[in-house]
This record gives sequence, C-alpha cells and structure tokens, in this order.
Amino acid sequence: MVKKKQTLEDKLSTKQETSWLEVTKTQEKKIYDFADGYKAFLSEAKTERESVDFIVEAAKKKGFKFLDKYKNLKAGDKIIFTNMGKLAALAVIGKDPIEKGMKVVASHIDSPRIDLKQKPLYEDVDSELALFKTHYYGGIKKYQWVNIPLALHGIIMNADGKILNVTIGEDPNDPVFIIGDLLPHLSHKVQSDRKMSEVIKGEELRIIIGNRPSSDKDAKSKLKLNILEILNKKYGIVEEDLISAELQVVPATDARDVGLDRSMVGGYGQDDRICAYTSLKAIMDVDKPKKTALTLFFDKEEVGSIGATGAQGGFFEMVVGEMLEKAVPNYRYSILKRAMTNSRAVSADVDAGVHPMFKSVHDLGNAARLGHGIGICKFGGARGKGGSNDANAEFLGELRILFNKTKIPWQYTELGKVDEGGGGTIARFLSEHNLEVIDCGPPLLSMHSPFEIASKVDIYSAYRAFLEFQKAD
Ligand code: MN
Ligand code: MN
Repeated sequence: MVKKKQTLEDKLSTKQETSWLEVTKTQEKKIYDFADGYKAFLSEAKTERESVDFIVEAAKKKGFKFLDKYKNLKAGDKIIFTNMGKLAALAVIGKDPIEKGMKVVASHIDSPRIDLKQKPLYEDVDSELALFKTHYYGGIKKYQWVNIPLALHGIIMNADGKILNVTIGEDPNDPVFIIGDLLPHLSHKVQSDRKMSEVIKGEELRIIIGNRPSSDKDAKSKLKLNILEILNKKYGIVEEDLISAELQVVPATDARDVGLDRSMVGGYGQDDRICAYTSLKAIMDVDKPKKTALTLFFDKEEVGSIGATGAQGGFFEMVVGEMLEKAVPNYRYSILKRAMTNSRAVSADVDAGVHPMFKSVHDLGNAARLGHGIGICKFGGARGKGGSNDANAEFLGELRILFNKTKIPWQYTELGKVDEGGGGTIARFLSEHNLEVIDCGPPLLSMHSPFEIASKVDIYSAYRAFLEFQKAD
C-alpha cells in the first residue's frame, strides 16, 4: 500500500485517484490471475447457451446441485436452476429464513451479435458468392462488424426433433466467415455520404460463406447447392432444418490482454459477461451466508428483457417459490412476496468509461474511468430519468459503506451527460418485485463492439463487491 499524508482536501473530497495506485504486489498477482480465468471464459462462452453450460459445469464442481437432488433445503445448501438452456440461477441457502430477504445479484449473458435469418442461404450470381442473410440482435454499430473474422454458434433442430450443436470458426483449423465492406476506391458515391447508422445497412450485413459451385451438372443454384451439400454431410440436414435453428454470428477472436502494461482485457461479450463471470466466481465463494444468496444470469437484456428467458419473464419468482417450497413447511404465496420484498438486489451490468477522444458525451464529474473500480449507478434511463429504476439513497448508502469498509475500489457513475442519450438495464424489472435494487458494474470502453475493453483492477473489484454484498448481513 502506497501511503501518503492526508490533506484537508483529501479528507473532505471524494477520492479521484485510480485504484491501481493502491494495488499491492500480492493483490496484483490475484488481479492478473483472475483476469486470465475471465479471458478463458470470454473465449469459451460467447452465447447465452454456452454461458449457461459454463455456469452449470463450474457450479457443479463447487458442490452446487439441481433442486430435485434436495428433499428439503437447509442453510449452506447450494442449488442450480436453468430455464430453456438460456437462463441460469445459483443459490446458497442462508442461516436466516428466506422470507427475511435474499441478497440477489443479477446479470445478463446475452450480448449484441448478428443472428442468421431463418431462411438465410442464397447465392449471388453476379459476384459468384454464397451468402447468409442476417438480422442483427441488440444495439450494434453495424459498420464495426465488417471485415473481421466471424464464427457461427448455435443449434439446429432437425426434422426428427434432434438438436444439433454448431460451432464453426473457433478452432484454429476451422474456417471463419466475413461480412465484406466495399473497397475505398469505389465507395465515394454509394457509401461516403451515408450517415453512421447506414454506412452498412441492416440488409447489407450478409455473411460470405462460399465461392465454389457444386459439381452437380443439373443444379440451377450451384453455389447454394454446394453449401447445402457441405451442411448435409456435416450435420445431416436439409435447407428446411435451418428454419428451426438459432445460429448466432459472433467475433471469432479470443479475449486478449490489452496494453503494454497488460492492465486491460479486450474481448467480445464483456457486456455483460464481465458481471456474469465475476458474480459466478463470487457466489461460488459464498459459504453459509446469513441471508440466502441468489445469483441470476438472464438472457434477452439486449433486446429489452422480453420473453420467458428475459428478466421480465417469471423465472426469478419461480426460483424463489421453488426454494421456499423445500425450505418452509407450510409454504404460502404471501411468504414468497415477503421474501421478495425483504430482498436487496444488485443489477450487475456495465457502465461507460470515459472515452479519451469523445469526452464531450460525459459529465466528467459523474463519469466512470477504467481503473477506478466497480461503478455504482443510481439511475439510468433517458430524457429525465425516463424508464429508470432510480435506486433509493438508503440502499446506495448501504453499498457505499460496505465497499468502503471492505476496501473495495468503487466509483460513482452516470451514463453520459443529461439528454446525451441513455440506456436501460434489468434493474427496473427486478424492482417490480418490490425490492431494493441498484445498478452496479465495471466500466467498459467500446461497449457493444466486437472487442470491448475492461480494466483488470475493475474486473477484480466487481468480483469482490458481489462477494462482500452476498456475504454481508
Ligand atoms: Mn448490459
Ligand atoms: Mn448492452
């Protein structure tokens, strides 16, 4: 610890220094090691389904079991829940009855990406290329997704009802895919004057997948047929099977260290798998807490938390109800409502770090910096806090006191200047259960891009923050 003499200004003002200055040699090793595990997770789990698989596997190794393995629940029991393969929850039963309230941490495991259309495959005769049509998912800047190696992840349900898993582009021996941009020599008239959202239009996000015709002499669409032949050989499928598929196109690149000092992690899907990973590691380290710890990993946040696997679905309530049924002898619905009402929740999601070249979008006095620890955000929304869960000062105060007491680096953050833009999280949907909830998460640079940036000290502070929150009384 680097100790300095405290001035009157230090004493009376909010701390403004980077957390890196307070990192000791022993902490440094922990921070860098933790980031290595995180990078492996980012490179392995690029979709919500893969994240659920990763979470379940990791939790099982730490003694978590599916609920049907328990007859009754008692303090210390560790439970896994999943829903439709896209949503997961982990719980550690506390010493207090569940109806006295839980400590909930909720993140999301879907990230902006490019989905294939249900009838994706066609050939373009003029260019002699086979392509996939796509429909993007979430708020992407479309021009960022061209000319980078892409991988295909997902599932196909065939005509027999069998689920086939697809991952192409992650193994170094696999081919990758690409959305080609136009060469600068010819883009002046058709592209140069387009506005940013249309530099590449939605229907121009087409994936190049082939250039070689089928050798079948009778075929009318030889390029397309060649792709169908390959898919048939590899998966035994026909074109109609692609209609009952979910195929997601994501960057084929692995997560990497960023910077000469290796102080940052770059990778796809850090919004919000940075919170998924840190909250997963946290609950796996929670042992016999006073309050029941519940960690939720939602899907569909990037498209408004709609649907059964989104935070607006019934999963949260169902999980708590199922636990109560096995923990309370005379379970009634009112107990569930009480358990919800008495709970405290962290909506674990990322915020925006100050951008060095676009500072004007931030109110620098209320903005997060990379390296200053986990951000606490009282409200989001747009146009006068519209659509925001404006957290109670009392709950914010509780977290601030806890983080200060446990020496967790944290900062206050607001997403951009007033009327600059805005955004939402799952906080408002959690709050509908009548509980205290606040947004909390590390800042990112280049959010929603194919390669987002986070600071290692913030990643570790998020893990510690979620852990101390769930451990605390
Ligand atoms: Mn998010
Ligand atoms: Mn997002």
